[in-house]
Amino acid sequence: MEVRRKFRCMRCGHEFTAIHTKDGEPVERTCPKCRSNSIRMLKEQAGKAAKKGPEAVR
Ligand SMILES: [Zn+2]
Repeated sequence: MEVRRKFRCMRCGHEFTAIHTKDGEPVERTCPKCRSNSIRMLKEQAGKAAKKGPEAVR
């Protein structure tokens, strides 16, 4: 089972979603843009906070 999380590259600032763990084991993550492994996990904005802004309108 895969767990996906949002990450941000500390090198180029690129944000992306990547597999965090697979079958309970951590997966090595690198930035798809610059291939750096200096990435940081972002906190998920679940619930009300995610419905703010023009991007919420579909
Ligand atoms: Zn990057």
